[in-house]
Amino acid sequence: MQIKIMKLDYGQATTESLLRKWKIDTCQQGEECWCRVIKCDPPLFFVESNRDEQEYCVVRSGELGKETVEHLVKLHNKSLSGT
Ligand SMILES: [Zn+2]
Repeated sequence: MQIKIMKLDYGQATTESLLRKWKIDTCQQGEECWCRVIKCDPPLFFVESNRDEQEYCVVRSGELGKETVEHLVKLHNKSLSGT
């Protein structure tokens, strides 16, 4: 058996992110912060030139509030399970 290792660039990661489930995470400030981060589940990583692999964030910290993120993740994951 061979484990498939994908090295995606940012654009490819963006495409792939829409096919995976999403999960909610907190930013570095934790639960108390108003914002929430959306990541992929399983985690998705991408590589930019001359930089280490980074985890892809659908929504980064400081962009959207908790309630909006919860709503988006619910809708997105529901849309995946419906196909
Ligand atoms: Zn935050």
